[in-house]
Amino acid sequence: MAFLAVMPKKLDQRDDEIAGSLLRENSSGKVKLGKIYSLMSAVGREVAPHVACTKGCSDCCKMNVSISIIEAERLSLMSGRNLAAVSRPVRHRSDEFSGIPCPFLQDNACTVYEHRPFACRAHYSFDDTAYWCHPDRSNAAEFSLLESGGAKQAYQEIVMKSRLSGFADIRDFFPTNTAVNQLEG
Ligand code: SF4
Repeated sequence: MAFLAVMPKKLDQRDDEIAGSLLRENSSGKVKLGKIYSLMSAVGREVAPHVACTKGCSDCCKMNVSISIIEAERLSLMSGRNLAAVSRPVRHRSDEFSGIPCPFLQDNACTVYEHRPFACRAHYSFDDTAYWCHPDRSNAAEFSLLESGGAKQAYQEIVMKSRLSGFADIRDFFPTNTAVNQLEG
């Protein structure tokens, strides 16, 4: 991919080192998560000229969004929203939430952008346009996710050590009436 060739060496190095350095670090999972998010934001700024994603485009907020409990707790803290009791990982059909907005989406904008989960930071369309991102088409398309190997490894290590040791959808943790109806239906 074109952006890999222009990725600053320093950023590459941060990505190479983050999993090891967080493993040695004696801080909470939430603090470590903040450092991973910060790295993903820096990578995201480099990626921006090479993707179809633009401000106001929110199709990827209307599909499944897998998050870990530690991210859900962080989101609850930052947003003041109550967290539903989720005691085990939850798997969903890949099209389960097609067209259903994330509970943090308002007027096509993320209300928790600074605190958005890892999945939202890794999801980009490297196509020329956002055509395949539309919920009517996204399940028929294959997306190349942003692979920041070190950040991903560090993230997975935090998830595996968390109380849930796995993922659930953001709507499982923060159900709206619509999402609850869909789950029950
Ligand atoms: S947390 Fe924000 S970026 Fe992620 S799916 Fe929800 S609205 Fe979109």
